Amino acid sequence: MTDQQFDVVIAGGGPVGMALALALTEYEFSVLLLEARKLPENVSDPRPLALSYGSHLLLQRLGVWEKLTQATPITTIHISNRGHFGHAVLTADEAGVPALGYVVNYHALYESMRGLLQARQVNYQTGAQVSSIQTNPSQAQVTYQQDASNKWAQSSLLVLADGGRLAEQVEGIHYHVHDYQQWAVVSNVRVEAPERGAAFERFTLDGPLALLPSGDDYALVWTMPVAKAEAILQLDDQSFLTCLHDHFGDRMGSFIRAGKRSGFPLALKYASAVTSQRTVLIGNAAQTLHPVAGQGFNLGLRDAWELVDEIRHVPAGAAGEPGSARMLAMYNQRRRYDKQAGRLFTDSLVKLFTTDIPLCQTFAGLGLTALDCLPPVKRFVARRMIFGARG
Ligand SMILES: Cc1cc2nc3c(=O)[nH]c(=O)nc-3n(C[C@H](O)[C@H](O)[C@H](O)COP(=O)(O)OP(=O)(O)OC[C@H]3O[C@@H](n4cnc5c(N)ncnc54)[C@H](O)[C@@H]3O)c2cc1C
Repeated sequence: MTDQQFDVVIAGGGPVGMALALALTEYEFSVLLLEARKLPENVSDPRPLALSYGSHLLLQRLGVWEKLTQATPITTIHISNRGHFGHAVLTADEAGVPALGYVVNYHALYESMRGLLQARQVNYQTGAQVSSIQTNPSQAQVTYQQDASNKWAQSSLLVLADGGRLAEQVEGIHYHVHDYQQWAVVSNVRVEAPERGAAFERFTLDGPLALLPSGDDYALVWTMPVAKAEAILQLDDQSFLTCLHDHFGDRMGSFIRAGKRSGFPLALKYASAVTSQRTVLIGNAAQTLHPVAGQGFNLGLRDAWELVDEIRHVPAGAAGEPGSARMLAMYNQRRRYDKQAGRLFTDSLVKLFTTDIPLCQTFAGLGLTALDCLPPVKRFVARRMIFGARG
């Protein structure tokens, strides 16, 4: 065995790839994590992440949680449909958890995980861009560029956690893509009368608008058609705040301060298969979802967690080693339902609430009313948003 031979190679050190590498440190596997970005560098990704209570528990187990300097609990979620009837309130008490979730910043999560990987001496190569992958029945091989030279590594299992570019090289895998023709405008905003622990998901015909408690401020994820987003991103602070107030309403008084604004194009993208010979796709490489209801990273983290569970439970012998056909089939089977449910849930929400057909809006309003009035339905939905499709 050479230094370039591993049990597991992970291509892509975003939050999901890093979580996988951290989880694997608990076991006796040799792991190589390859991240294209040169670090340390300011990975100043401004997007907020609403982590479910289930993700909070997983990050606690990984030792990441205690490294996060700011995580704001969400104890209530108000869901409404602008200009239409129907409103629902989900609370942590009713779901039987201390908080429905926590809001953290992508960058802060990234930094906490990176620090922990280094502290645990994980073989974590940065500035390492994977360019090609090849597999045969017993091995996967990646070629990557680092410091202007070509390098390679072999493994029993190759995990693609790169957000979804490398899988195009994998035979038998292609992506289904639906461009929502929307962008998410992201910013930090301050309101006149904040409600502690309250998050708001307001559906509008343009797309959903989320306000998530973040310290003393709110993290805004405001989705809208592309042309409108381009125009809104050009506005000065005051015009932006007025526009936001017109759109969200007076529930928390005026919007009094806005941070830098950024735009993210939105598409649903999912792989036709998440496993192939010696290869598995996790996180955004397997499915990139609309940010409505904050499901993407939570789902990706469960991908990583359950993959480790499959890897560590494989029986001894070649038939059961990491990346064997049997192990991959077990993983596939185990994750199928949660992935499909996450995809269907987010996609249906976006399509239902942005359709300007009276029958659809009536149906949406009735759904929200039923959610609010029927405690078992509320608990069912809340627990699935928190813990995934198995609730
Ligand atoms: C506006 C917005 C708001 C969101 N809000 C939420 C939320 O509230 N809750 C939630 O759960 N999710 C949310 N999401 C989704 C969440 O951001 C993603 O699901 C999550 O970032 C996926 O992590 P990942 O590690 O799979 O992929 P990524 O974050 O895309 O990371 C991929 C990594 O792979 C590296 N890479 C790429 N190519 C290569 C290569 N060839 N070789 C080596 N490395 C490579 C990249 O540099 C990167 O570090 C949101 C998304 C958006 C856009």
